[in-house]
Amino acid sequence: MPPHPSASGLLEVNDHHIRDIAVHIVNIPAKAVHSHGSGDVAGIHSVLLEVTTDSGITGWGEASPWPVFTGTVEANAAALHVHLRPYLIGADPIQVEQHLATANKIVVGCSEAKAALETALLDITGQICGLPIAELLGGRHRDSVPLSFSVANPDFDANMEEVERAWADGIRILKVKAGFADHDFDLMRLEKLRARFGDAVSLRVDYNQGLTAYDAIRRLRDLEAFKPDFIEQPVKMHERAALAEITRAIDTPIMADESVFGPYDAFFAAHDRIADIFSLKIMKAGGIRRALEVAAIARIAGLEVYGGCMFETGIAHAAGAHLVGAIPDLALGCEFYQCTHYAEADILAEPFPATDGSVHVPTKPGLGVTVNRGMMEKYRVETLC
Ligand SMILES: [Mg+2]
Repeated sequence: MPPHPSASGLLEVNDHHIRDIAVHIVNIPAKAVHSHGSGDVAGIHSVLLEVTTDSGITGWGEASPWPVFTGTVEANAAALHVHLRPYLIGADPIQVEQHLATANKIVVGCSEAKAALETALLDITGQICGLPIAELLGGRHRDSVPLSFSVANPDFDANMEEVERAWADGIRILKVKAGFADHDFDLMRLEKLRARFGDAVSLRVDYNQGLTAYDAIRRLRDLEAFKPDFIEQPVKMHERAALAEITRAIDTPIMADESVFGPYDAFFAAHDRIADIFSLKIMKAGGIRRALEVAAIARIAGLEVYGGCMFETGIAHAAGAHLVGAIPDLALGCEFYQCTHYAEADILAEPFPATDGSVHVPTKPGLGVTVNRGMMEKYRVETLC
């Protein structure tokens, strides 16, 4: 919807109020089970947030929890429907920071629900102003970001067929999910991937907390022969002292994922230098703006950041794409491959813009994607409204 010119000719943005909020729970099966150091995942179980205004604008957001990592679908759906919806009805959707501050007073935790809320409000604000979210955040630093595909199928032969398809699509970054089987299985996969693709591939390794701290360093030293760009979250999220020790002992850069959720974690993680890189995720930080704060702390501390995600549809991936488009420094790419290469289908009307091995930052106003309601209905488990 175009902005309203006021009598003075200035942009009138106060003429919008939240009329309704619907919370849709969807379950989209994956093409194959993916294994991680913290468990198996067989699909995308997400909460989609639909916010409509009395001026006829619809904004979308998504909360994508992973119970062993962040939280549950049930808790996030309840946070949005039971606790935040009554406060938000009638509110001005543009006052994003005010609503996020109030949401933090109404519900502790549930960072994924707050990410969903922020995405939907920024989607509406962007449509009112005629600007993509990346521009609302201060403007994009890049139009596209190299895409990583995760090597996580416990059936490695079947996995290599997926990898070859990803390679044919232009993907040149592979992240090997490790620590769910034995150490030799992890080394074998790295050896075969390096032999198959040579130096043309960027290899990374993510343990998802799968190693025990007492013998992690000697195992990680074995990986360095395969020249990974980084090694991600080898030990448990709260074993920060061990993570710092590993970061000092291993030449390969170490990335914190589960150990760094939002700005508060990032501040102390940077102060104690527990890692060389932070994985940014809107689901951990509680939205794009909080993730930008994590990125700012990293930048000040001389750390790198990476565009991470959970198991998401194209809605959350689009929000993540705006985030990584707006970060000043981003050297390691992103991993928004789920809705294109992992799920059996997505719920967007047009395919999520991941082509030629990169994610392209949406250019239409707001989130820049629209939902295919038929596909959402197909995978919808429940709607709370
Ligand atoms: Mg990770």
